[in-house]
Amino acid sequence: MNFLGNKPAAPEESRAGRKHADEHRIVRLYKDHPTCDISIDEFERLALQRLRVLKKVEDLKLRGKQDEALMTEVMTSIRDNNLEGSAIEDPMRADQLSHFILRLSYCGKPELRKWFTTQECELFRLRFIDKLKTEDDRALFLQREGLAYTAVQTSEREMVQQKMKEVLRSSGNDGDIKIEQIFKVPFISVPDLVSQRKVWLHGGFAYVGQKDLVSLVAQDFRINLSKGLASISRRWREIFPDSDQRLRPLVEGLSQRYLGPDLGAAGNQARRSDLTVANLTSVSARHFPLCMHNLMQTVRRDHHLRHQGRQQLSLFLKAVGLPLEEALIFWRSEFGPKVPGDKFDKEYAYNIRHNYGKEGKMTEYTAHSCVSITRMTGGADEHHGCPYRRMDEASLRANLATLRCEPARINEAMQKKAGGHFQLACACTFQGLHAGADLELGINHPAQYYLESRRVYDERESAGGSSKPAAIPEAGAGPS
Ligand code: SF4
Repeated sequence: MNFLGNKPAAPEESRAGRKHADEHRIVRLYKDHPTCDISIDEFERLALQRLRVLKKVEDLKLRGKQDEALMTEVMTSIRDNNLEGSAIEDPMRADQLSHFILRLSYCGKPELRKWFTTQECELFRLRFIDKLKTEDDRALFLQREGLAYTAVQTSEREMVQQKMKEVLRSSGNDGDIKIEQIFKVPFISVPDLVSQRKVWLHGGFAYVGQKDLVSLVAQDFRINLSKGLASISRRWREIFPDSDQRLRPLVEGLSQRYLGPDLGAAGNQARRSDLTVANLTSVSARHFPLCMHNLMQTVRRDHHLRHQGRQQLSLFLKAVGLPLEEALIFWRSEFGPKVPGDKFDKEYAYNIRHNYGKEGKMTEYTAHSCVSITRMTGGADEHHGCPYRRMDEASLRANLATLRCEPARINEAMQKKAGGHFQLACACTFQGLHAGADLELGINHPAQYYLESRRVYDERESAGGSSKPAAIPEAGAGPS
């Protein structure tokens, strides 16, 4: 990818000093596009680093983390993922590039834009608070970004201070209120401060104290980002013509990337050598997430699965360690009542071998992540996708009750589903089926669910506890 005008790397000895100086400058509105060349590998690496941080921001917010706890974990994630560059990289460059790369990936669909804007705004807000601690830091930032907020003049400051203190006291702030610098802005630019009663409203303006400057600036950040995303979206075909088969698939696929370990890769920990056709029924009843559990039920009941359902289940079975020979036996026997052996060999066996990298391009295909699965749609006679999204509440409740999920966790799962947080709903179910299990990371991949479930049962068995299997729901309990 050519971000024109590459700057030469700085000498080794000056990097540490520059990194320190860049601490403040890293907080910015991203008004300028990067202008340098990067390799495809670096392009992908930087994008995934930032995605991991944004995902972490989302997870922490959904879990209700606030203030110091939120700040600490996000700053740790920034460091762990080298968002501001590794020890030998230019922090400004890594941060700017990763932001603009993700703009390319998240400029299309409204829900992608919304997700990206929400997480980026929160990241900006946290960095602003963390890095711009002094009045001078903030003044430099405003100057650098060309933000000319109107500071209240000395002549009226005392009166405005008094009014602001009255507002703050009326909303329960009884402590010693210090208001130094005050900015006057149109009230519509700070809706969150208005709703929290943190500003004095007068004549169509809101008077904002320096402490709440971050809300004001975050609004500018949001506007600038929204405009940037809309602009790229309009120019999408110009930037990525149909003939671009190199970068475009990578950019389009970024928003669906699973960010955990590669659970489908050979030798990965998700694979267990003990999975066979003989124990598949008991293992699936106990350890499969609902999406895969329902596909197993459907194939047993209907002796058939439509293409997307077959792919979802087949790649998952491969990811969790069902060998190719066993997979062929499984599909052949399940399809047997409806599909004669020779027809199965002609129409289905190739595809299964293809998934295992034994046909066609001989590529090892990986199983779908939760992000991919939850975005799938389909007709009433199709059973792929995520049941937390596709099922109505009554069907989902019935399914979870049949699995013997704890009632309180079922209620929690319904709340998460209602809020559109399907992976968190799945995590509630996991906890309702594995009492006492810690699931700090949430559910990001069906194979991760399987792996965690097996780990919990292994630990219980080695500790001498009971590990009673869950019941298999009645056939016909597929997504509505
Ligand atoms: S959240 Fe993921 S693992 Fe759980 S049911 Fe949906 S797709 Fe499957």
